[in-house]
This record gives sequence, structure tokens and C-alpha cells, in this order.
Amino acid sequence: MMDVDLPQKRRRGGQPKVDPDMVLGSAEALRRQFAYAWPSLGKRLLAANSAAEVWEIVKSGKGIISNSDMAFSELLFEVLREPTFPRFRTKSQLTFLADSLGASGVVTPRRSRDICSAQRRKVRHMIVRQDFYIECTCGYEGPAKFGKCPKCKTGELSDELRRRELES
Ligand SMILES: [Zn+2]
Repeated sequence: MMDVDLPQKRRRGGQPKVDPDMVLGSAEALRRQFAYAWPSLGKRLLAANSAAEVWEIVKSGKGIISNSDMAFSELLFEVLREPTFPRFRTKSQLTFLADSLGASGVVTPRRSRDICSAQRRKVRHMIVRQDFYIECTCGYEGPAKFGKCPKCKTGELSDELRRRELES
């Protein structure tokens, strides 16, 4: 189980800055924990009537929801009682809980959920081809294609280049 840091203070007024990647990372770690804990603790958590009761249930899991304390239970109880908490689908409930708690109470559960969904929508770009500019004895000058000359297909380096490659 991954540990999730839980700073206890929530500031009033403006929302403090949090690292969106960390919020989503924590939410994903929490989601795995909740998914694992749900068969044994889920029903009781959903039926809990106070933060103290949530705390007792979390403790009874003996670390199944790790690194938790009373502040975490208070936050958890608050989220369980939100009017928009999904009532039926377990999958939606776990995501809602994890995303709400991802920011560990540093920002509101609502803001934490917004951060998580914005992060999930982000398209991550990556380099899928990395080529160099080449001059080949066949006359071609331009970018290599997957390390080779696109005109004559050679991948062989001249003696001088090979020597330089060895030296570097
Ligand atoms: Zn060539």
C-alpha cells in the first residue's frame, strides 16, 4: 500500500496552491486502497453517522486504508455526506472518494475532484521519433529516418563519424 500524505490544515478563503500531478497521484493511490478495503469496510463506511464512527471503521481495517488519522476520517465523513456523493455504483463511489481526498484536505474536496478530472483530460505528448540531420554519400541531405538515410537506406557511418562516436 502506498502512503498518502495528509496535511491536516485546510485554510479558509482562497484555495491554496497544490501540485495537480500529486493530487491525482494521491487520488489514484487512495482509489486502490478503497477498492481493496471496500468489500470489508464499504457498507459500514456508507452507513456511518459520525466522523468518530468512520475513524473506528478505518481503524478496524488494520491499515487496509493506510496512514489515516482522525483528520482523514473527518474529511472522509464529510465527503460521504456530500449531496452529490454517488448513491448506487460502487465504482463511482470509489472514484468520488479518492478524487475528493486526493488533495488531502489542503483544498476542498470539490476542488480536489476538479483537479483530478482536469488532469485526466490532459493529453500528454511524447516524442515518438528522434532523428538527426544527415548528409549521405548518395547525395541525400536532410533528416534521417529511424537512424537511416531515407534515400539509399544505409545506416552505416563513415570512418570519421564512427571514430568520433567512439571518442564521445
Ligand atoms: Zn544515402
